Amino acid sequence: MRCLAILLLLTLGPAHKLLAGELAVESDFSGGSAKVLEIDQAKRVIRIEPEANPQRGWECWWYFQVNGIEPGETITLDVGNAPWATPDQAAISTDNVTWKQTSPGKRDGKRIVYRHEVDGASCWFAWGPPFRVEDAQGLVDETAKSSPHATAFELCQTRAGRSVPALRVQEEGVPDEQRKGIWIQARQHAWESGSSWVCRGFVQWLLGDDPRAKALRQKARITIVPVMDIDNVAIGAGGKNQTPQDHNRDWSDQPHWNSVKVAQQQIQQQDKAGQFDLFVDLHNPGANDKNPYFYTTTADYLSEEGKRNLEHFLATARLEMIGPLAFKGETRESGPNYDKNWTKISKNWVTKNTAEGVVAVTLETSWNTPNSNQEGYMIVGRQLGMAIERYFRNMP
Ligand SMILES: [Zn+2]
Repeated sequence: MRCLAILLLLTLGPAHKLLAGELAVESDFSGGSAKVLEIDQAKRVIRIEPEANPQRGWECWWYFQVNGIEPGETITLDVGNAPWATPDQAAISTDNVTWKQTSPGKRDGKRIVYRHEVDGASCWFAWGPPFRVEDAQGLVDETAKSSPHATAFELCQTRAGRSVPALRVQEEGVPDEQRKGIWIQARQHAWESGSSWVCRGFVQWLLGDDPRAKALRQKARITIVPVMDIDNVAIGAGGKNQTPQDHNRDWSDQPHWNSVKVAQQQIQQQDKAGQFDLFVDLHNPGANDKNPYFYTTTADYLSEEGKRNLEHFLATARLEMIGPLAFKGETRESGPNYDKNWTKISKNWVTKNTAEGVVAVTLETSWNTPNSNQEGYMIVGRQLGMAIERYFRNMP
């Protein structure tokens, strides 16, 4: 018997390989993206690239399920082909709800190789924690259901006919005409999933029981859009620099994208009523930006009041956004030296088209750090909420 067993081992290789199933990659689901280059069943290596979606922006987002895993075995994931597509650590989940990070991968030119021991027969890997269309709808619906101070509404329908979920928050307090108008939006760039988690952290804080959140609800009307580019999030496309143009180069007199058009209308409507004060556009930055920072509008666009308010906002953000993903005071200007289409960037359009005291900024939350996960992003959102509350409480 022993001889037979040894013979079998020699012929067929180590026993665990007999037990392990065929690895299979599935990405045909909401937000999924993977082009499988190779699956080496013997070595348990999966080689993928982000799926190409011509005209739909950068190929940088990937998100897929792996089946056929022998629980406890180590899967090797080899991903390319651009710096935007290769975080130091990949996101991993065994239930498609709670996401962790793999240990840092090993770089090989434009590719990176992650190794992860999977505690289950199936798992999901992604560029970062996914935040799908269903998650946006769920956040809006569940918040409206559980809080009397939140109302869900459809911002608009996309060009492809999908609904763009949004939330409006206010609690009985100051008279409506004295309310501060706040607009928070995320995911003009579909691949920047972390920004929607920041948005979610903000919403949870805002509708939670912190007395400071209550104070803000009582004096403001807050509009929240967790995903602006619903169509690209739905199909797992990158969105950045898409055709005919990026959502964040669409803020002109003739916007192409419906969510931009309706956001502009609602912001202008509030501004005309003298009730618009703060705009924050949530994004994720470049791979090497390890601390969150704000893009600000060009100084030429700002009145004395605008400058004073912006400085005050940045100071309160610095006091509250203390990390682990901390705002340490870094700002960058997105004026003419930044992009030839700079006037069509959201915050620049908002600054130009609203009252002098309005603050409009872009928050870039780092995606390539050990804290760039669901929890880390949500803390940024909570701290952003506290910064906003402090900003309005201590206006100069
Ligand atoms: Zn962006």
